[in-house]
Amino acid sequence: MECPECNKPFKVTEYNLAMPGTKEKEPVNCPYCGHEVTEMVSNGWWNTHKMSDVEIEKYYRNKSK
Ligand SMILES: [Zn+2]
Repeated sequence: MECPECNKPFKVTEYNLAMPGTKEKEPVNCPYCGHEVTEMVSNGWWNTHKMSDVEIEKYYRNKSK
């Protein structure tokens, strides 16, 4: 995923709560600038992580394919 504010790629992982049937829209915030990038349905919430330089390189390489 990419932030439209600062144009940096980041990783999103889901933190699942052990409660079924509580699917709600949770915000995904940019780990760099805090901008709310999107909302996605989750059982818990979304964790966002900055990418290392190596991961960023890999991200753009896969993207251009
Ligand atoms: Zn951002």
